[in-house]
Amino acid sequence: MAGEAQDDCLFCKIVAGQIPATVVRETATTVAFRDINPKAPVHVLVIPKAHYPDAASLAEGAPGLAADVLRETRAVADEEKLESYRTVFNTGAGAGQTVFHAHAHVLGGRGLQWPPG
Ligand code: 5GP
Ligand code: ZN
Repeated sequence: MAGEAQDDCLFCKIVAGQIPATVVRETATTVAFRDINPKAPVHVLVIPKAHYPDAASLAEGAPGLAADVLRETRAVADEEKLESYRTVFNTGAGAGQTVFHAHAHVLGGRGLQWPPG
């Protein structure tokens, strides 16, 4: 069923506490933790606790939860004192998605070029 934890999902395991992560914020519906391979001085991932494979299925299946994730990206940026930052949802392997549990990257703490390439 949509939203149910998946046994083979890395981020469901982080939500369940089965894999350690450096958690920076947690709400009833979301968790934010530092990326294990940061691409910027601040690189935090914000995920819904419920499992949706990507941002599109999250927005379609649980729009309120998608809004929670977006709100948390702002909260992370505030806590990390980022004046400018980038929020990224990679969708599909061709765009670089490697973990198929919806997540927002929050990147900041250095100059960010646009377009990113
Ligand atoms: P994607 O490439 O799917 O958009 O993003 C997945 C992100 O998860 C990558 O930036 C990767 O470094 C990060 N990641 C992969 N495995 C782990 C892990 O076990 N712990 C943490 N904190 N981040 C991870
Ligand atoms: Zn999952």
